[in-house]
Amino acid sequence: MAWVLDLDGVVWLGDAPIPGAAEAVERLRDAGETVAFVTNNSFTRRSSVIEKLARHGIDAGDLVLTSAMAAATLIEPGTRVMVCAGPGVLEELGRRGCETIDASDPDAAGWGAEAVVVGFHRTFDYRRMQVASTAVRDGARLIGTNTDSTYPTPDGPIPGAGSILASITTASGRRAELAGKPHQPMARLVRATIGDTGIVVGDRADTDGAFAVAMGFRFGLVLSGVTSAADLPTDPPADLVADDLLSLVPMALPAPDGDR
Ligand SMILES: [Mg+2]
Repeated sequence: MAWVLDLDGVVWLGDAPIPGAAEAVERLRDAGETVAFVTNNSFTRRSSVIEKLARHGIDAGDLVLTSAMAAATLIEPGTRVMVCAGPGVLEELGRRGCETIDASDPDAAGWGAEAVVVGFHRTFDYRRMQVASTAVRDGARLIGTNTDSTYPTPDGPIPGAGSILASITTASGRRAELAGKPHQPMARLVRATIGDTGIVVGDRADTDGAFAVAMGFRFGLVLSGVTSAADLPTDPPADLVADDLLSLVPMALPAPDGDR
């Protein structure tokens, strides 16, 4: 079976590891399961996510999928794309063969962008909002990497990509095409990578749970991130609920013969 693991709130919280996550991944691999890491974080480069997983004791191989990658699948090579997002988006669009300009670039206004990609970045400001929304009103496609309203940190939630995107949809009067969990571009990317059956493990029902529904996978909810026991039952409901990934693994894995 394939396991689709969310990162923030499942494997780590900010930079702090969630205890037992690395051991849980090892147990899954020992049981012959495929483990993929799927994150709506479009800011961080994919290579940096792989390095961070390695620092947390997890060898991800190349099974790391980000919402920046899902967004890039929506755009044809050669397209002129304004980036109102972080380095992860710039990198994936470059790999896709797009021409890119950052929304903060002095030449961005009037550059003739054919698409605008919006994602999480902490340097977002009024100027970027203005330049990006003007490009969209002038006819550029608007693509959001993800719609998470907040992003969990050890100090509590901070505004996420969905909050930035909302300002640009409001200012431009246009709706966005959406790439990350729980939307179809990410579902297609995950299916193409790991197949048609599995379980999504995450800490948010509105992204990870809805993504499991979109994929036709089971949803394993962990209470190590933004959702607590007081929030249960969630919408959509979880097939399995556990305090953390390490406690969830034995609930979904058949017991090995020796333990029976
Ligand atoms: Mg999460």
